[in-house]
Amino acid sequence: TDAVRVESLYRTYDAGTPVTALDGVSAAFAAGTFTAVMGPSGSGKSTLLQCAAGLDRPSAGRVFLGGVELTATGDTAMTKFRRERAGFVFQDYNLLSALTVEQNVVLPLRLAGRRPDRGRVRAVLGTLGLTERAGELPERLSGGQRQRVAVARALVGEPAVIFADEPTGALDLRSAREVLALLRTAVRDFGRTVIMVTHDPMAAAYADTVLFLADGRLAGQLSAPTPEAVAA
Ligand code: ADP
Ligand code: ADP
Repeated sequence: TDAVRVESLYRTYDAGTPVTALDGVSAAFAAGTFTAVMGPSGSGKSTLLQCAAGLDRPSAGRVFLGGVELTATGDTAMTKFRRERAGFVFQDYNLLSALTVEQNVVLPLRLAGRRPDRGRVRAVLGTLGLTERAGELPERLSGGQRQRVAVARALVGEPAVIFADEPTGALDLRSAREVLALLRTAVRDFGRTVIMVTHDPMAAAYADTVLFLADGRLAGQLSAPTPEAVAA
């Protein structure tokens, strides 16, 4: 089954001169798979991720998240489905600076109206090596640790799909590999579906499939990628 499916997505922006960010993209993301989305800057990668995740609405086309057509629902329902089914990791972590590590991690559960299960939160913090940091503010952490907090936050609600936009873009190689391994584990051991925008061939090689975008269109696809094949 498809965890996410997009059909004939178009997204235009009308800021003075019209821009076509997505120009007819169709793609299916099978449950339990890891897909990387690559392509030049401005090719529509972030727009595709945002539309697929229900953070943005396409100008035309259809988006299905876990069998529900997001493009056929209102904003309230879209937000609800997103909170139930999706986790997010961004390049700049997007942690709230006034909240502790643990408070950041449980925030999506609270927003979804779910009561955090203390044992589960502890287990996730432990798996990600954050137990000692639970009570600290993000500003006390390194970039790699901050991104691990963001990954913990994305995993704690057990979402079907994790959307990651350049999750390793601000990290050193070692931290990048840690975060990628966590995403890989989420897919292999926990059956999650990961869709990750990246420009880094090393990162893309952690995926099962790489989709290439160019000028808002699907321009190619690569299975079982290696960094060398991705870069070529
Ligand atoms: P990528 O992630 O591949 O760099 P984006 O999806 O961010 O590409 O952007 C695709 C195109 O849409 C670019 O030309 C970009 O300038 C434009 N774009 C993205 N977001 C907006 C916006 N909010 N307003 C106007 N144009 C935008
Ligand atoms: P336990 O097996 O006692 O639950 P774990 O530390 O193995 O403890 O995992 C705790 C919970 O955290 C699991 O139930 C799982 O859902 C989640 N979890 C841990 N690591 C990951 C991961 N990389 N991806 C997705 N979920 C994870």
